[in-house]
Amino acid sequence: MKDLFENNCDVVSDLLPLYADGCCSARTARLIQTHLSACKSCNKKYAGIKKSLKNTHITDIPNSDPDFLGIVIKLRRRRTVKNTILSLTVLAALTSTLLLAVTHG
Ligand SMILES: [Zn+2]
Repeated sequence: MKDLFENNCDVVSDLLPLYADGCCSARTARLIQTHLSACKSCNKKYAGIKKSLKNTHITDIPNSDPDFLGIVIKLRRRRTVKNTILSLTVLAALTSTLLLAVTHG
């Protein structure tokens, strides 16, 4: 798999958004890190992605191409869904604990 990442900027740049968002496996992350340490072009892309992920207002990113914005928006939406599910799960757990406490004295 190492060969796949070496000198293969296409594969790495496809995975950069996932890597920046911390969504890829530890092994993939290591391979991407190795590639980034040797590849200026991917490093530049990665810096851009990280910067965009930090931005609160996605539409304010200057000169970003629509494909890239689409990826960022997708990642943010997925994160929001994940957070919503987590909140609802916690809420459900709290509610059932409260109900148990009330009904069983
Ligand atoms: Zn590269």
